[in-house]
Amino acid sequence: MTGELNGAHYDCIVIGAGMSGMAAAIRLAMFERRVLVVERHNAAGGLNSFYSFDGRKYDVGLHAMTNYAPPGAKGLPLIKILRQLRLSRDDLDLAEQMGSRIAIPGYSLSFTNDFAVLESEIERAFPSQIDGFRRLVEHLKAFNETALDIQEQSAVAVLSEYLSDPILVNMLMIPVCYYGSARENDLDFSQFVILFKALFLEGFARPYEGVRVIIRALMNRYRELGGERKMKCGVREIITENGHASRVILDDGSEVTADKVISSIGYAETLRLCSDQPGDAGRDNTGALSFVETITVLKQQPSDLGWKDTIVFFNDSETFDYRRPKNLVDDRSGVICFPNNYRYSDGRRLEEGFLRITALANYDRWATLEDTEYQSAKQEWYERLQRRALDFLPPPRVRQKEHTTPPMVAHKAQARFVLTEQTAAQDMFTPLTITKFTGHLGGAVYGAPNKVKSGRTHLDNLYLCGTDQGFLGITGAMLSGISMANLHVLGAGS
Ligand SMILES: Cc1cc2nc3c(=O)[nH]c(=O)nc-3n(C[C@H](O)[C@H](O)[C@H](O)COP(=O)(O)OP(=O)(O)OC[C@H]3O[C@@H](n4cnc5c(N)ncnc54)[C@H](O)[C@@H]3O)c2cc1C
Repeated sequence: MTGELNGAHYDCIVIGAGMSGMAAAIRLAMFERRVLVVERHNAAGGLNSFYSFDGRKYDVGLHAMTNYAPPGAKGLPLIKILRQLRLSRDDLDLAEQMGSRIAIPGYSLSFTNDFAVLESEIERAFPSQIDGFRRLVEHLKAFNETALDIQEQSAVAVLSEYLSDPILVNMLMIPVCYYGSARENDLDFSQFVILFKALFLEGFARPYEGVRVIIRALMNRYRELGGERKMKCGVREIITENGHASRVILDDGSEVTADKVISSIGYAETLRLCSDQPGDAGRDNTGALSFVETITVLKQQPSDLGWKDTIVFFNDSETFDYRRPKNLVDDRSGVICFPNNYRYSDGRRLEEGFLRITALANYDRWATLEDTEYQSAKQEWYERLQRRALDFLPPPRVRQKEHTTPPMVAHKAQARFVLTEQTAAQDMFTPLTITKFTGHLGGAVYGAPNKVKSGRTHLDNLYLCGTDQGFLGITGAMLSGISMANLHVLGAGS
């Protein structure tokens, strides 16, 4: 069987239409390279996509676009992306977060896109640590986290040099790990710097219509530039000859060739496509960390129920254990997100309320379940995560009778009832969902524990971009695609 593209030759083939692959492809098309994007799924976006279910559109992934940059800011990652892809701020329609929190029993640190808020919260909650924290921030600001040749360091070890209180170290690790660590209980310090800047120094924003706005902007730009793409058809194999990717075989049997190939699908996943590699290639560098996420559609705006946070990073003790759980899910820590709680312009409000809860999960445990067990495990963990989230949220405000004001505050026992009553629809995805729709082994959202910062592989014309090159999240993935395209196809490294 051969398909319509059989025999075609490209300057570059990009594998995967996620954020990094699309950004790389746009960059190349801008410089008049003949580019083909090949995507196995029917939709672009990869780990950060959306789907329709029961007449509603749900985002997969997007809690927040990190790395917010206000109009007029200079030199920040978001500004670089807009400039390099020739996108305008209006294309992304970004609204800033209202305010987020890191919460553990007895401690709460609020933060917004104004870094001074976090600084003053640390001064209030950890007065003995504020000088060390300020010195740490100076160190982070001066650190060149994008250099390709930096020596690895443990982030926990570096933080402990500046902060003597392990509770504060743990509290800072919770959001950073949840938003990007592919390693258990630690991460490389340069990754920590990338994430700390992205989360705290720059901050969170969201387009009113969610991630599809970003995907649409990228697809439109690519289309305008005349870029070609092949959807619903993956790359089945990369035929290698003498350390070179000589041909690419697509799922429909087409054989295409390219001077260069950029793969955004992951390190081990890419190696396993290569004809000169064993079927378990890269097994010593595959990620173990995956997640479940519940999505609850609320009948009211979360703020009407008294839930005004944008994002809450929670942990149920002073010790933070970020690793693959033994159980299906670890509900001791997680992330609560209310996509409604952004400052949308012109007073716009999302039509419905949304509550999303993310927690660590074990891919292998989910993979062993039979279909009925899988469905009941989903329901059980959905309910457990809802209950857990209520421990870290203010009790919901309820109106006992219509027109009764002021609203009554629900007691703890009532809170669960209120949440159930306020639920208009629910869904949940598991590590298996992630693998099914993105091909990431083990449902590992943040990919391989050891990043390949140079983007180089064992083949002289095959490169990596995206999650396993070293930059994470929507903004990070786009930056990775741009920088790998610049370095290996357009620029000096090619
Ligand atoms: C639950 C969850 C929550 C998240 N929350 C946020 C958030 O709030 N903010 C944020 O910034 N980031 C978030 N992320 C992370 C963010 O989505 C990713 O870091 C980013 O999208 C990675 O992009 P990528 O291009 O590197 O990889 P991917 O998105 O994985 O793109 C790879 C693409 O390759 C395709 N593919 C795989 N195999 C093949 C093949 N053989 N042939 C062709 N195509 C193939 C896949 O279908 C996919 O489209 C979240 C992710 C998840 C899953």
